[in-house]
Amino acid sequence: MDCMKSKIWNPQAECMDREELKALQLERLKDTVQRCYNHVPLYRTKFQEIGLKPEHIKTLKDIVHIPFTTAQDLKDYYPFGMFAAAKKDVVRIHGSSGTTGKPKIVGYTRKDLDLWSELVARVISAAGVTEEDVVQIAFGYGLFTGGFGLHYGMEKVGAMVVPLSSGNTERQLMLMEDFETTTLVATPSYALYLAEEMEKRGLDKEKIKLRVALFGGEGHTDAMRRKIEEQLGILVTENYGLSEVIGPGYSGECYLKEGMHIAEDHFFSEIIDTDTLKSLPVGDTGELVITSLTKEAFPILRYRTRDITVLNDAPCDCGRTSMRMAKIQGRTDDMLVIRGVNVYPSQIEEVILSTKQIEPFYEIIVTNHGYMDQIEVKVELKDVTILDDYPQLERVRQKIRYDLKATLNIDAKVTFVSSGALPRYEGKGKRVFDHREKK
Ligand SMILES: [Zn+2]
Repeated sequence: MDCMKSKIWNPQAECMDREELKALQLERLKDTVQRCYNHVPLYRTKFQEIGLKPEHIKTLKDIVHIPFTTAQDLKDYYPFGMFAAAKKDVVRIHGSSGTTGKPKIVGYTRKDLDLWSELVARVISAAGVTEEDVVQIAFGYGLFTGGFGLHYGMEKVGAMVVPLSSGNTERQLMLMEDFETTTLVATPSYALYLAEEMEKRGLDKEKIKLRVALFGGEGHTDAMRRKIEEQLGILVTENYGLSEVIGPGYSGECYLKEGMHIAEDHFFSEIIDTDTLKSLPVGDTGELVITSLTKEAFPILRYRTRDITVLNDAPCDCGRTSMRMAKIQGRTDDMLVIRGVNVYPSQIEEVILSTKQIEPFYEIIVTNHGYMDQIEVKVELKDVTILDDYPQLERVRQKIRYDLKATLNIDAKVTFVSSGALPRYEGKGKRVFDHREKK
């Protein structure tokens, strides 16, 4: 397929011949390893401990000899201990969005910022957003990479950016109508809330010009995506990135929605087995490990993302030749172990969204009174009158319980509340409450 016919921001990079790409990756990997060794004491120490020298990296396969970098390393070297550029050359700081403890801090040189905008522009273009679009950014602006990342990427593409930040739903909806906003950047939780508010207020669908949304800040299931796409009548594309690596821009879906294209000219990606830590072949499921290839201020070698996915190097019909990653199947950090069974909240979300009598809002509560793990799923009933219809209520309850048992092999308590009773979120939603006492 001719690259130029589809919306590809940088055809030269995104449609590169794979052999040519590998040669470029190797050259850049060597430079990055040398940079880390020369300027970051942590990396030099790790290399010296195992007798590894930058010149030992002769092929891309040699990357497996490089020790992993973990979130703990970022915490240990807080705030600037892992920077590979002089402080005077660092022009921006970002950090992880965690609410407790010290954030994981990363830095950018001016060149890093230019690269970041370029990569976000690729993701945005892949979603079909162009200079014709009006973009409402409902991400918080701050240390979180989502707000600024999307902002500058959108400007680079030439879209009209409305930097509203998160919250103030009244105003979001008013300006969405007045500015004829076509593109929404938000967390899926907030998009869901906005959709509900639009419905409640009976906003004229004709006046709302929204056609596409880019999500971030938290994961969402395919069922949630379909729900939001249907409710708002828009296309939702998924993208993935994390501040430790660069922020958004690492990968994003094209309009075909068959995996997120990775910016392979700037990042080398691997999948590892979480138990053996061995590199797995393309096509196997495991933990995503990322190495930056061109970053100056915060290069990172073999970063363990804790995210489980699978890579696909088959060419895509959109024309891009870059490898694609599947939706994150579960963050190892989010995984709950209930009576010895591994449970991802996303699996529960799939079940809830497949039940038509309930709203897409829910809470998962885990306790262990009486030494036994108990899981409760709290859901909102669309039609409150069902509460008075016991047989029907029981049918809905049994369906959810049965589906949870079939997918997760766990017995869950299902509690109903009325529509609107659970909290709505303007940023990242909080849906899992683990109240278990550690024994
Ligand atoms: Zn594609």
